[in-house]
Amino acid sequence: MRIDIVTGDITTRRVDAIVNAANSSLLGGGGVDGAIHLAAGPELLEACQELRRKDYRDGLPVGHAVATPAFRLPARWVIHTVGPNWHAGQRDPDLLRSAFFESLTLADSLGATSVAFPAISAGIYGWDPRVVARTAVDAVREADTQTVELVEFVLFSEDMADVFVAAA
Ligand code: ADP
Repeated sequence: MRIDIVTGDITTRRVDAIVNAANSSLLGGGGVDGAIHLAAGPELLEACQELRRKDYRDGLPVGHAVATPAFRLPARWVIHTVGPNWHAGQRDPDLLRSAFFESLTLADSLGATSVAFPAISAGIYGWDPRVVARTAVDAVREADTQTVELVEFVLFSEDMADVFVAAA
């Protein structure tokens, strides 16, 4: 599996699946979550509301992942995951690892060949970018994927991209 580190807006990536750093409500938020909902269109929120009604009445737990179509995005699927929130005392690195690992495993089970990740938990959720980058790269390398051939880390700033390059 190839790992690429890219600077840019994840919503524009032409990959099979993009990963959303969502929150447990699945009903949208700021940062990359807001950007993905804006670009995917209102159908994405409807799909997330449906998931809440059917499968996640109490919200998506931290470290878990769930897929929806990507609607107006170039990607086929959005994989929604919830990273741990450092500011809320969620400081177990296994939860962060799980967000990356479960997202990749889910994309693989859908048959995706390419997956793009943002820096989950490194924004509003306040984790140290170096810990996020190290955890992300290790989690992806440990996954035994069948269909995924390319993982992209899509970072919004050059500084964040440099941190990921140092960890890769
Ligand atoms: P979290 O709440 O998990 O910390 P955030 O969305 O606040 O998630 O931030 C995660 C990372 O995503 C941050 O580094 C932020 O700068 C970045 N980000 C925000 N918008 C985009 C985007 N459109 N594409 C890629 N990365 C983005």
